[in-house]
Amino acid sequence: MTGPEPAEDSDDASHDADDAPYDGQVLFDLLDSTKAVLFDFDGPVCDLFGGASTASVAAEVKEAARQAWGVLDPEVEACDDSHGILRRLRDVYDRPAARSLGRDPLDQAELIVARQELGAVEKAAETPHVGTLLGLLHELGIRMVIVSNNAERPIREYLRRHGLEERFGHVFGRDPDNAGLMKPDPDCVRRALKYLDVPAGSCLFVGDQPSDLEAARSADTCLPFLGYTRDRAKASDMAANRANAVVDSYLPVIGAAEKVRKARWASRHQVG
Ligand SMILES: [Mg+2]
Repeated sequence: MTGPEPAEDSDDASHDADDAPYDGQVLFDLLDSTKAVLFDFDGPVCDLFGGASTASVAAEVKEAARQAWGVLDPEVEACDDSHGILRRLRDVYDRPAARSLGRDPLDQAELIVARQELGAVEKAAETPHVGTLLGLLHELGIRMVIVSNNAERPIREYLRRHGLEERFGHVFGRDPDNAGLMKPDPDCVRRALKYLDVPAGSCLFVGDQPSDLEAARSADTCLPFLGYTRDRAKASDMAANRANAVVDSYLPVIGAAEKVRKARWASRHQVG
């Protein structure tokens, strides 16, 4: 394959990569050996809720559950976020004594939360520089998939609206029949690795939550992990749990991807 020599790294990306508080070589080595990237959706690809609370959705789910199950457990009543309430209802349902209650509240909860996620897509903001990064990874021949706790339909709708459908080979979202399989359970990561059919050590998981790292490690201890978060506590948590790298911006990752592209071009043309 031939082509024009890649342009010099953008000033922004190079500057950030050089100033980043970790070794840019780590990012270069990670990307250079990566054949596929598994992206979490909310955070690494977009900001789905813009920091808005999901308490009203949790309240709607609880009201529906009360009508079917009667009095709810205190831990269910205390939950005020959409994914937390899905998980807690599932936990209750999984108790043998609760099976006789029926699973209608679980199905209703899934519909309510998925509807809220679909509504959020309209205003969801793209993660800064993610479009540039996805384009570079595509150029490098790296396959990409989504592994998310969000429902698949809202994710696909977001990708369609932002012209990103072609970038991702597949979307592995929340199992509508079992919210207990959300990350940190490794279910969606395992499904993605099976689909990709390349060694986990040749893939890279990009996530913004410690639960993403936990899911990655549970799926396959060889799966490298890149943390993407501006939350210092989460970044420290990921670093302490041996994330391969943690960034608070994609600029140094873009800088590393550009260096990989240049190195491969030089190798093909035996330059330098
Ligand atoms: Mg996330």
